[in-house]
Amino acid sequence: MTYSDALTIILAKPRGFCAGVERAIDIVEKALAIYGPPIYVRHEIVHNKWVVEDLRGKGVVFVDEVSEIPDGAITVFSAHGISEKVESSARLRELPVIDATCPLVTKVHREAQRYEAEGRDIVLIGHAGHPEVEGTTGRVKGKVYLIANAADVATLEVDNPESLAYVTQTTLSVDDTRTVIDALKARFPSIKGPDLRDICYATQNRQNAVRDLARQVELILVIGSHNSSNSNRLRDLAEEMGVKAYLIDDESGIRPEWLENTNSVGVTAGASAPELLVEKVIARLKSLRSAEVKLLDGISENTKFKLPPEVTDKPFPLQKRAS
Ligand code: SF4
Repeated sequence: MTYSDALTIILAKPRGFCAGVERAIDIVEKALAIYGPPIYVRHEIVHNKWVVEDLRGKGVVFVDEVSEIPDGAITVFSAHGISEKVESSARLRELPVIDATCPLVTKVHREAQRYEAEGRDIVLIGHAGHPEVEGTTGRVKGKVYLIANAADVATLEVDNPESLAYVTQTTLSVDDTRTVIDALKARFPSIKGPDLRDICYATQNRQNAVRDLARQVELILVIGSHNSSNSNRLRDLAEEMGVKAYLIDDESGIRPEWLENTNSVGVTAGASAPELLVEKVIARLKSLRSAEVKLLDGISENTKFKLPPEVTDKPFPLQKRAS
């Protein structure tokens, strides 16, 4: 086969936005429509450069800390969740807050609190510095041990080996965490933890789809931002399957030389990357080579999360908003 042969593009299914990301963006869009700009969002609403820039253009101000938000300004907490401390600092200032934390992240917070109430210290499986990890750690008052992989279990020093429970960051899949949990159970036989099926459906589905894709193509393009944990994981998984894979923000990241001597390309998108970017990537590939597009046989998702009352039937009263 030569470079001039037609390219087969196979799209992963499912790919792109999950229900938590859709809800978070919807909350901000609706807040803009109801209350008008500026809307203040603590942290990037979701980890996607395009989404953040688009919202910034519509009047959203992204801040790192609650202290940067003016009194009375409509405040949105990102999909990744927040610590108790961040929540109470907004409450103390009586900021009108709309919480866009994904309900599946809130579920992890509740699980951690439930285990803490049983007198257990928490082992959190996740990545240091990720806002979701900071949020979950800050939801319990007691000890939280952060580990990332099975090797960390061997060196983990805990105060009470008999009273432990584990919870996980949602952007790790069942497969990612299984070996870590097995290692934890081998070392701490009385450790408790939630059912593995509780881990985010969207992360697992996107990883399953990228595995299927890797069996059928020579190259995989993962659309997602570099700070997106789940997008990075999709790229890593494809490479673990022996397929060259690149993480790109959008179509401008494609290098024509990647397509040399390549006749099939898989395209997927992380949970925070919009479908519009997938379309742009396909258009760019088609501009470089004649191509046919196929859709991977995969599952259809129909999960939807309810929007909070502040952007549906119970908006904040006028006096609560900044003048
Ligand atoms: Fe929620 Fe899962 Fe999406 Fe994260 S990846 S926002 S946990 S649905």
